[in-house]
Amino acid sequence: CGIIGYIGTKESQNILTNGLGKLEYRGYDSVGIAVYNGESIGVRKAEGRLQNLEDQLGTSPLTGTVGIGHTRWATHGAPSDANSHPHTDKDQDFAVVHNGIIENYLDLKAELKDLGYVFKSETDSEVVAHLFTHLYDDDMISTIQQAIKRIDGAYALAIVTKHEPGKVFAVRQSSPLIIGAGENENFISSDIPAILEHTRNMHILEDGEMAVLTKDHVSLLETVTGNPITRDFFVVDWDM
Ligand code: GLU
Repeated sequence: CGIIGYIGTKESQNILTNGLGKLEYRGYDSVGIAVYNGESIGVRKAEGRLQNLEDQLGTSPLTGTVGIGHTRWATHGAPSDANSHPHTDKDQDFAVVHNGIIENYLDLKAELKDLGYVFKSETDSEVVAHLFTHLYDDDMISTIQQAIKRIDGAYALAIVTKHEPGKVFAVRQSSPLIIGAGENENFISSDIPAILEHTRNMHILEDGEMAVLTKDHVSLLETVTGNPITRDFFVVDWDM
């Protein structure tokens, strides 16, 4: 029920878990992160409290300056390690966190299974990771656009991919998502307080919009057309 994302020059693991801690009030049954280390995407996730994930990371940390994280409020598939986010495709080329519900996931799952994709969870969300692999055309923006045409429902998504390593992608449709613009670092979050310690410069993503974050730039686009959106960030002038 919460999303966090980071790209910058610092180690992302603790920035992500710290952000997830601030999203805890929203309620959750599982928690996880995915971090890209320059070569591959590492995933740690667990049913239960944030402490379970932190214990895993204590013995098996993730290094890297690009990552996404999730607190889950299960809607499709019981709370379990396997059903926790992030979800990945077979080769772990894509890692996806999702808030919301993919209404037509059973149809998509059946179609992707027929094509040979193997599912590791019972969630609606996992179809998105396999869809990206299936549709990837060397351009993640166009791949997201094609995937979004196939998906019905409510979603906030944050995505990292090995194919475009210096970027984090965010997509919003009927589920809140905020972009925070820092100095040599940018953030994704379900709400403002979770990233307020890092930056006061925010964009609220609207329905039908996506964002592409690099460490020093944020672009906002209309998801369907890909048209750039020009909108200054607003400066949060209140404190927690
Ligand atoms: N529908 C997804 C699931 O059950 C996401 C739930 C959420 O928003 O946390 O895994």
